[in-house]
Amino acid sequence: SQVRETKKKILKKSQETKFVPKTKAYFKDFHLSSPILKTLRDFKYEKPTEVQEKSIPLALEGRDLAISAVTGSGKTLAFLIPIFHHLQLRSRKQNSTRVLILTPTRELAKQCFDVSEKFSKYTDIDSVLIVGGKRVDVQANLLENKPEIVIATPGRILDHLLNTRSFGLDKIEMLVLDEADRLLSMGFEKVINRIVSECPKKKQTLLFSATMTDKVEDLTTISLNKPIRISINFQL
Ligand code: ADP
Ligand code: MG
Repeated sequence: SQVRETKKKILKKSQETKFVPKTKAYFKDFHLSSPILKTLRDFKYEKPTEVQEKSIPLALEGRDLAISAVTGSGKTLAFLIPIFHHLQLRSRKQNSTRVLILTPTRELAKQCFDVSEKFSKYTDIDSVLIVGGKRVDVQANLLENKPEIVIATPGRILDHLLNTRSFGLDKIEMLVLDEADRLLSMGFEKVINRIVSECPKKKQTLLFSATMTDKVEDLTTISLNKPIRISINFQL
């Protein structure tokens, strides 16, 4: 649509001209660990975007969040920063997958994985990418190593849940549903419900969506516990 094209153009321009968020806050005031601050310095990001400013402090408190914010608003760091903070603060007692990030497409999963890798550089936290179109046996081996973070598309991770014997979600501490509206419009509702049902009840869930449709609300009711709702309008 035309709106989407305009947004794309604005986003492209913002990336060309080194986008500086309008928020007053600085990442250095967020009490983040030094590996996270180092990674942000590598990115040359000093200030959080609006969605990051609003959601990171609440996510760090362990709250469930339902966030609506458009494409390009900086949602990836809004969940990756709290994830790395959490994993570092509570180092693992046992070898297990502790965080699951679900995205609708392979491309989005890969983009998220690339950012996650940057944070991993300064920590011993490992993430893996589990998406369709790649060899199942190779992925099964990756999952056998119990990576702390799994970034996945729903269909393929359900496949492993059912068929990769040592892989389970019973130690999940944080679940991210990224682009929830697209996850649902692509027909993943049942798959997501199944995946959520395999996770422990006691966990933190962060749901992100460009729009809050009725179906996204339903998903929020099913998988989130007393969520705080945050809505950010488009602005750069
Ligand atoms: P979304 O998931 O909301 O579509 P992304 O997380 O992909 O958005 O981020 C969009 C763009 O903004 C990316 O190019 C990213 O590198 C950039 N970005 C994210 N956070 C910041 C920030 N705090 N300062 C400057 N640029 C940022
Ligand atoms: Mg995104």
